[in-house]
Amino acid sequence: MAQVTVDITFCKGCGLCVDFCPQGIMQLETDVITQKGYHPAHCVDQEKCTACLNCATMCPDVAITIER
Ligand code: SF4
Ligand code: SF4
Repeated sequence: MAQVTVDITFCKGCGLCVDFCPQGIMQLETDVITQKGYHPAHCVDQEKCTACLNCATMCPDVAITIER
């Protein structure tokens, strides 16, 4: 298991991390709106994270941190 952290002050809700997570565990939080007006991404099942880093690599705003 890895710890997935999204810094929502940087996230712009583009959904790239959602599209590229092979485990399908990244989702946009539709009931949350950031100060910049976006639905931020979050990890819905940390247990399934393989720490592949796809999400962190794809994120254009470097908002995702993966800790093994
Ligand atoms: S590190 Fe890989 S498995 Fe974990 S949330 Fe990111 S894309 Fe998904
Ligand atoms: S790729 Fe980055 S900016 Fe886009 S939704 Fe995911 S965390 Fe947010």
